[in-house]
Amino acid sequence: MPSPALAPSQARALAALLDRMFPAGANHPGAGEIGATAYIAAALDGPYRGDAVTYRALLDVLDGEAGGAFADAPQSRQLALITALEAGTLPGLPANQDGAVFDLVWRHLREGLFGDPVHGGNRDFRGWSAIGFPGAQTGYGQAAQALDHPIDLPPVSVATQRARLASPPWTQPGGPRPLGADVVIVGGGAVGGFLAHALVRRGVRVVILEAGPARSGRERAMDEVLSTAFRNEGGAAKFNQEIPTWRTGAGMRATRARRSQGLETALGGNSVAWGAVAMRFYEQDFRVRSATIARYGEGRIPAGSTLADWPLAYADLAPFYTEAEQLLGVSGQDGANPFEPPRDTAYAMPALRSSGLGLLFGQAARKEGYHPFPLPAAIATTAYRGRSACTYCSFCSRFGCHVDAKASAQNTVLPEAMATGRLRIATNARVDQIVTDESGRAVGVCYRDADGDTHMVQGGTIVLATNTFENVRLLLLNKDRRHARGLGNETGQVGRHYITRQQPSVYGVFDELRFNRFIGPTAQAMAIADLSSDHFDHSQLDFILGGRVAAFNQYLPVEASGVLPPDVPRWGEAWRAFFTHAYNRTAMLFIDPEILPYDTNAIDLDPDTVDDLGRPVARITFDIHDNERRLMGYLQTRAARILEHMGASRIWCRPHLTGAISTHDVGGTRMGVDVAGSVVDSFGQVHDTPGLMVLGGSTFVSLPAVNPALSILALALRAGAHIAGASRA
Ligand SMILES: Cc1cc2nc3c(=O)[nH]c(=O)nc-3n(C[C@H](O)[C@H](O)[C@H](O)COP(=O)(O)OP(=O)(O)OC[C@H]3O[C@@H](n4cnc5c(N)ncnc54)[C@H](O)[C@@H]3O)c2cc1C
Ligand code: SF4
Repeated sequence: MPSPALAPSQARALAALLDRMFPAGANHPGAGEIGATAYIAAALDGPYRGDAVTYRALLDVLDGEAGGAFADAPQSRQLALITALEAGTLPGLPANQDGAVFDLVWRHLREGLFGDPVHGGNRDFRGWSAIGFPGAQTGYGQAAQALDHPIDLPPVSVATQRARLASPPWTQPGGPRPLGADVVIVGGGAVGGFLAHALVRRGVRVVILEAGPARSGRERAMDEVLSTAFRNEGGAAKFNQEIPTWRTGAGMRATRARRSQGLETALGGNSVAWGAVAMRFYEQDFRVRSATIARYGEGRIPAGSTLADWPLAYADLAPFYTEAEQLLGVSGQDGANPFEPPRDTAYAMPALRSSGLGLLFGQAARKEGYHPFPLPAAIATTAYRGRSACTYCSFCSRFGCHVDAKASAQNTVLPEAMATGRLRIATNARVDQIVTDESGRAVGVCYRDADGDTHMVQGGTIVLATNTFENVRLLLLNKDRRHARGLGNETGQVGRHYITRQQPSVYGVFDELRFNRFIGPTAQAMAIADLSSDHFDHSQLDFILGGRVAAFNQYLPVEASGVLPPDVPRWGEAWRAFFTHAYNRTAMLFIDPEILPYDTNAIDLDPDTVDDLGRPVARITFDIHDNERRLMGYLQTRAARILEHMGASRIWCRPHLTGAISTHDVGGTRMGVDVAGSVVDSFGQVHDTPGLMVLGGSTFVSLPAVNPALSILALALRAGAHIAGASRA
């Protein structure tokens, strides 16, 4: 297909390049026939317009290096040039440092091969047919998840589901521009929604200022191309312009975090995109330092680690966990996890059903003496407060839910909070300034609207609920006479104790089994907590703490086509052969290791990189340490044994260091009693700035081997009760 973005010679070179990267086989179409070339050519004149310069440069270099037209060069020369491209050594292409241009093309190619045909690739479902993916289905029964169950459904495009996805829309709250309220919440995501709910039902007047638009969670349902972290349409309103940079140590120049997980900028925030695994922390997680020392001695705390106890106990948070679970509608199996902390209520609904993969994992885990249990999830398994039950569609984590089975702030607390008449929401309201008075008290914020005009909103209490990176950035960017180093930063603690989850999964390919992991949400998982926290004896081990191992569902083809054992190349005949065989035969054991805080890991402002408003982006300095390396090695060995029991034909592990921005990014505004070692108290009140609060994962003291959001919400609900009490006093 001709593309305005490419000259005819460049279009020819692109077609040849892609057909070499994903070649046709005896019974398989190649990239061009599947429509990947047409997809990229069109995208370069559309959503990937910004990449057209890079492509033109690449294709001209390929022609030049081929000594004529790359498309006409002998195959051996073409292969040599692609090898150089991947290695980052292709001459004349400075943008290809570390193979970045190869990565870009590879990613686009996978979208064109395996994305929904609505975007112009995957012509007549040829890519999906090659791997047996049935597309945007909504009615899988339990039998379809049995091991080796054949799926003969004709593939379905998201376009066919559009009518279903369109309704009901989220309507933009109307009314005049807000001028002030008792409490002004910056950020309308998970925390913003749940905090507002806790406040307005106690009679407090609240304004939420949300940087992104109002939208229905269904808008990006069931479309892998739109929802991937790579394109991250959800972050288009803001996050994509301010992606943090990352370096592994001080003194290095940070570069844009390459394997970045996108974050949403829209009403509902990441409560729309999340995977909805909803677990409480364990009791010991709140006293992790003292319990470790009591059992093993102080010498076992790794040098340089700033591991500390939390300034509250599990019992302080338990009632708010219960409240969060009821508001979300958490499904789970009572008593299934023997390590679970005490609870005074049953789960709101039965657990998600078990898949064949989950049952197989459970059997294998029991052989090792572990206690498998289904992960609790904020996903309705029966009708719940106006929401429908899950259809096991599998477009779940990173997607909005097409039936609102997955809880978000938007389909739970926000409508109820709006109905009180005490909540005002302003969308497209990007806050960049926190206003303080002469005494140093926070009294309001300024935001930019969609036209770039600035407005001020005053509040008795100002709450930052903008997720970890922006919470830290807003504090550091806002200075006044009394806060020369930034708000909350009198003792230099803002940005410190940053922790991000590493994801050292272990994979297994089963030549003799098909799993149909394209059915079911990520959270439909069987897990073990026997190796989490201090649930096992570390006396003879060379690390402290642990991690959760779980067999997740949701395996969608654009992402899956990038999951390869180390000996399988990323392009060519071997890639095509591996992936078309392995797509439906791959199991992943996802590991959530506990990562410790260290004095060398932090967030600050990048002196070299700015956002679209010209302000420094957040700079992450983060690396793992020996304790985590040993812990992850141990967990991977245990997970591999489970895969062996399951019958895997081939097993491989991801590297230990998987990068920054993991979706479990915490710390930076640590909570504590000690003013010199923390930024906020256990309610989120900033020590050195009256009237200002910070909530969210940034206030975490440590990162237990549990997903963070339920604890984040419980803390927000507790803070809401506290603020309301103080407002009444
Ligand atoms: C793909 C994915 C999967 C996940 N899966 C899970 C899971 O299974 N279980 C779990 O526990 N956690 C999960 N998480 C993490 C979970 O979603 C977050 O912990 C949670 O959403 C954090 O809530 P928050 O309110 O602090 O931030 P967010 O939900 O991100 O909300 C922050 C809001 O602030 C807005 N904002 C940002 N800057 C400004 C500004 N300057 N002015 C105004 N508004 C602003 C943003 O637009 C956003 O709406 C997942 C996250 C992602 C991305
Ligand atoms: S909860 Fe997840 S898997 Fe279930 S229907 Fe919604 S998006 Fe699909």
